[in-house]
Amino acid sequence: MSTASSEPSPVLANAHAQLAKAIETLGYDEGMHETLKSPRREMSVSIPLRRDSGEIEVLHGHRVQHNFSRGPAKGGTRFAPTVDLDEVRALAMWMTWKCALLDVPYGGAKGGVAIDPRDYSQAELERVTRRYTSEIMPIIGPDKDIPAPDVGTDENTMAWMMDTYSVSVGHTVPEVVTGKPVALGGSQGRAAATSLGVTQIALAVLEHKGIDPTQATAAVQGFGKVGAGTVEFLANAGVKVLGVGDQYGAVQNEDGLDFSALQKHVAETGSVVDCPGTEKLEAADLLTMDVDLLVPAAVEGVLTEDNAADVKARIIVEGANGPTTGEADRILNEAGVMVVPDILANAGGVIVSYFEWVQGGQAYWWTLDEVNEKLEKRMTGAWNRLIATAQKHGTSLREAAMVTAVERVAEAHVLRGLYP
Ligand code: GLU
Repeated sequence: MSTASSEPSPVLANAHAQLAKAIETLGYDEGMHETLKSPRREMSVSIPLRRDSGEIEVLHGHRVQHNFSRGPAKGGTRFAPTVDLDEVRALAMWMTWKCALLDVPYGGAKGGVAIDPRDYSQAELERVTRRYTSEIMPIIGPDKDIPAPDVGTDENTMAWMMDTYSVSVGHTVPEVVTGKPVALGGSQGRAAATSLGVTQIALAVLEHKGIDPTQATAAVQGFGKVGAGTVEFLANAGVKVLGVGDQYGAVQNEDGLDFSALQKHVAETGSVVDCPGTEKLEAADLLTMDVDLLVPAAVEGVLTEDNAADVKARIIVEGANGPTTGEADRILNEAGVMVVPDILANAGGVIVSYFEWVQGGQAYWWTLDEVNEKLEKRMTGAWNRLIATAQKHGTSLREAAMVTAVERVAEAHVLRGLYP
């Protein structure tokens, strides 16, 4: 359970450092610090997979439940080669703060399997998902821990998880996962929720800065579930997206990229690289493009002490979880760059997950307009409160967000009391 014997990985060390700073500001003692730092429960599993070739390969997965003080644990399931226990621990901890900050009644969790899904057939991915679900069955459930999609997983993954769980318990339990296909009790608007939320925040920040969206420029790193939707929504709002990248490379167009052309090219080739109407851009140069708004919407640790000083954007909206290292955060803050932290910026996904879980529990479905209206209210409300708190205390948005979230979790913990 404890990481005391070995150094945490950089991503977990970043999550720990963010917590430590909030604890210091709040003046909490070491006991509270350790309580909030330690995951409540962790499970590591082996996943024997029969490949289509007939060979057996053993994969490894985890589910970490960081906190339950405010409700059942909640968080995505990541299928990526980078997945290890420390990464899942960090992502689970960020889910706790995200849910607390947005006031959705959950603790935080995350799961993942170390696998590159691109190397496996759909049938193999289904077997991996079903075996992983059956291994973590003892600790998940609609009132215990509710998985959702994350990097490398999608609504099909959620359909298989829901089915595996339901078959095991003997009846259909739609609320055991969120991010399901709408035909299986998924919510309208869930698929686009994270990118819509990122865009709602980006537009709120532009307004706060007095920048007309139709005069603004942006660069987006990532063209997956979060990045692609963000490019589309930003472009619809009149923002010129000058650069976009994925894991294979980046492209630019100084007059603004055409979302439909990018989408078509990605559907055909799997990447934005070489999309007609674009020029090639070095992947590293995407993050330092001369734009107003930068949206890192891929993975952790991409803004570092090596590139932070070269960032020209004055606004960063973190679509990914943990894209900015602690050192980069310091450099960006000192340079006066406004960094909207992940736990607010990308919270649209878990907010609509919460709506999906509520709808599932009542078997009563909301329209897309109802979902999006409720999402916008929560996102912009949280933004308005966060900017007011940061201005009042003269802190960065991340510090203000962390202090608010940690205080809420600590309050719930104290009210419940320590058992026994
Ligand atoms: N994986 C998403 C996140 O990092 C969504 C989690 C959820 O909907 O539970 O926030």
